[in-house]
This record gives sequence, structure tokens and C-alpha cells, in this order.
Amino acid sequence: MSGRRKDELLAQKRFNVESAVIFCQGVVKDNEHMCNHCQEGWGPWSKCVQLAGGEGYSRACANCIWNGEYERCSFWQAEQDPATLGIQNRATNGISPQSQRERPMKHGQI
Ligand SMILES: [Zn+2]
Ligand SMILES: [Zn+2]
Repeated sequence: MSGRRKDELLAQKRFNVESAVIFCQGVVKDNEHMCNHCQEGWGPWSKCVQLAGGEGYSRACANCIWNGEYERCSFWQAEQDPATLGIQNRATNGISPQSQRERPMKHGQI
């Protein structure tokens, strides 16, 4: 269990290093163009900075990539296909309750 936590911390550290790099090298957004998260004043940085030409989670700003929580960034969300997001939500909602019910029953019979 402690090993897993270490992995999560390492992953967080990696995102935080990335966040700092983007803050130094990225494009500073005007107040009007800040992501929804920065407009509310969240994140470690005082400005909303997005990497030019970033892909994947790099579409999110430095503040939102901090701790790997880039999915909350409105820049990242704008890049996602709303239909894909809808399907993913439906799939996880449909599958997880079933597998959670079946597994304990099978193991419990032994
Ligand atoms: Zn931002
Ligand atoms: Zn953001």
C-alpha cells in the first residue's frame, strides 16, 4: 500500500515539475482568457499560463496540471469531444456497479 502511495507522489511530482516548466515557457493568458479554474483564483501560480502547441494534458494550464488535476482545466475540456466524454461516463457508470457486486459473492462462497 505504501508503495502505491509513493508511486502517486512520484506522479504528482512529475506533474508539478511539468507545471513549473509550462509556467516558465508557456504563454501567459490575459485576465479575460484565463481558464475557469484560474478565474476563481485556484492553483499555485499567480497567472494562467498555457504551453503553446501542447498536446494531451499539456493543453491544460500550469495551474491545472499541478498535482495532475488537468481535467478540471477549461482549456483541456475544450479540446475533448463532448460525445467521447459522455460515452466514457456512461461506460464507467454501467460497468463498475456490476463488477463490484459480482466479485465479493464469488470470493465469499469459498
Ligand atoms: Zn488556468
Ligand atoms: Zn487551467
